[in-house]
Amino acid sequence: MKLLVTGGAGFIGSNFIKYVLENRGEIESLLNVDCLSYAANEKNCEEFISNPKYRFRHLDITRGPQVNDVFKRYAPTHVVHFAAESHVDNSIKNPNIFLETNVMGTHNLLKSALANKVKRFHHISTDEVYGSLGETGKFKESTPYDPRNPYSASKAASDHLTRVFYHTFNLPITISNCSNNYGPNQHKEKFIPTILNSLKEGKKIPVYGQGSNVRDWIYVEDHCSAVWKILTQGKTGETYNVGSNCEKTNMQVIEAICNELNVEFSTAIEFVEDRLGHDLRYAINARKIRSELFWKPSHTFKRGIKKTIASYA
Ligand code: NAD
Repeated sequence: MKLLVTGGAGFIGSNFIKYVLENRGEIESLLNVDCLSYAANEKNCEEFISNPKYRFRHLDITRGPQVNDVFKRYAPTHVVHFAAESHVDNSIKNPNIFLETNVMGTHNLLKSALANKVKRFHHISTDEVYGSLGETGKFKESTPYDPRNPYSASKAASDHLTRVFYHTFNLPITISNCSNNYGPNQHKEKFIPTILNSLKEGKKIPVYGQGSNVRDWIYVEDHCSAVWKILTQGKTGETYNVGSNCEKTNMQVIEAICNELNVEFSTAIEFVEDRLGHDLRYAINARKIRSELFWKPSHTFKRGIKKTIASYA
C-alpha cells in the first residue's frame, strides 16, 4: 500500500500516521500532505519524521493542478483525507475558507484520485452533518443530513461529493462519520485543550451557556484504528459511523478532568455567552462498524482522559 494522508500535521491526521507507522508495517510508504495552516503543528510529526517510510509534502488542497501533480508523482494506491478547516466558531466568523478547503479541496482530491486510479479513497467526516438530537435517539448511517453551522454544512457537502464520485464515476470510496475526538496534539482552540490550558494557567474555564450540551467522546487512537479497519476491510461505497458510546455534557467533561487533577470544580469555571446555533446533543450509533468490521474502541473515557492529561503536562 502506498498511502497518501491529507492534513497529517493536524490533530487526528498526526495520530493516524503514528498509528499506521507503529502498527501497520505492511505499508510500503506514507506521504503526508498538509498546507501547515494555523491548526497544524510540525511538532505533531516529530515522533515519525525520521521513519524511512514517511515523507512530507507541503500542499494546499485548494490548488487543483498541484494536487494532481502530487498524485501523478507519488501514485498513491490509498488515500485518507483528513485535511479540513475544523473549528465551528471560526466557520461562524468566516465561512468562505471552509467552503474553499472542505468542499473545493475535497473535490480536487476526488478528481485526482479518479484520474490516477486510486484503489480506495477514504473520506473523514463528522457526526455534526446529522444536526442536533433531542434527549433521545442516536445518529445512524441512514439519519438524514441536517447541518446547522457553516463547518458542518461544508463537511456535509464534501460527503455528498465523495458519494457522487462513487455513484457517477465509480471511484472506490468509503466515508466515516465520527464523534468528538480527544487526545494528544489537539489544537488549543478546542474544548478539552482549553480546559487543560485554563487549569495550567490558573484561569477560569469558559463554559458556553449552561454547559449542558452533550457530545459523544472518543479517544483519538480509537478513531484511528477504526479508520484503518474501514480503509482495509470496509465495503466500497459504504459509510460507517464511529463512536465510543461515551455521551457527556460539557460540565461532566470538566468535572472529570478536575477530579483527575484534584481541582475544585465549582470554583474553576465561568459561564460565557453561548455559541450561535449551538447544537444540543450528538450521539453515535456505531453498531454497523462493530458488527460488520468487528471494530471496537479500547479506551474508556477515564483511561483516555488520563493519557490526554499526561500528554499536555
Ligand atoms: P485539525 O484542524 O487539527 O487539522 C486539520 C489539518 O488540515 C491541519 O494540519 C491543517 O494544516 C490541514 N489543512 C487545512 N486546510 C488545508 C488545505 N487547504 N490544504 C492542506 N491541508 C490543509 O483538524 P482535526 O481535528 O484533526 O480534524 C481532521 C478531520 O477529522 C477533519 O476533516 C474533521 O472534519 C474531522 N473530524 C474531526 C473531529 C474532531 O473531534 N476533531 C471529529 C470528527 C471528524
